Amino acid sequence: MSDVTELKQKFLSKGGMEKEIKGYEVTTCFGGAGCPNAANSCTQLAKDIETIIEKENILSFLKETVKGDLKFHHEFRVALSDCPNACSRPQIVDIGIIGAVLPGVFDEACTLCSACVEVCDENAVMLDEENVKPIISSHQCLYCAKCISACPTGTLGEKGKGFRVMLGGRLGRHPRLAMEVPGLHTHDAVLSIVHKCLKFYKSKSKNGQRFSYILSSVDQVI
Ligand code: SF4
Ligand code: SF4
Ligand code: SF4
Repeated sequence: MSDVTELKQKFLSKGGMEKEIKGYEVTTCFGGAGCPNAANSCTQLAKDIETIIEKENILSFLKETVKGDLKFHHEFRVALSDCPNACSRPQIVDIGIIGAVLPGVFDEACTLCSACVEVCDENAVMLDEENVKPIISSHQCLYCAKCISACPTGTLGEKGKGFRVMLGGRLGRHPRLAMEVPGLHTHDAVLSIVHKCLKFYKSKSKNGQRFSYILSSVDQVI
């Protein structure tokens, strides 16, 4: 039997599908495999999030609340990416996380070499020639840290490191991009947000209702 046929049979078999479903999915990008774009690693965070989800026993919750067979689309989904390129697609899952570095301007003398301006895909860096220093637009910056790596003098450096968090994204018939929780969050703060989201989800979701359908604003859980 070909791999495709075997897979199709597994999906079509009602009992088989039930066995494959674990109630949640935690996906990471390839940052942990050495991607040069990685800004902040999500590898440990992904493991810790999985531990929290296991403790909340989402599979039992789904089995108790969903009428009929459990399907893959009932699963609670978390996706983590190590940089704003977002290869694991955190914007379209229940909880999305992006590793981030906040760039800052330090006292080391700037040579106005423009390396930071050229490397920034967001046009977020400008050079203040009069005061001989870079200016970073907080509205445009996506916290990728490329300007820091490109700066030869150390004028640009890490002011903070953490994670962006977005909630309530989905695809399907009525897609919606996840809503961002403002700010850069520490490892522990992200775990706290995940925990609150799971509690909220379990208290509100009925018959397999997705997190995105019961969440209208991030303020409901933060
Ligand atoms: S999200 Fe960024 S770090 Fe992760 S695989 Fe994609 S480019 Fe690399
Ligand atoms: S961190 Fe990335 S997006 Fe932000 S200013 Fe630097 S290069 Fe641009
Ligand atoms: S901040 Fe660094 S990279 Fe940017 S112009 Fe100054 S020395 Fe060059």
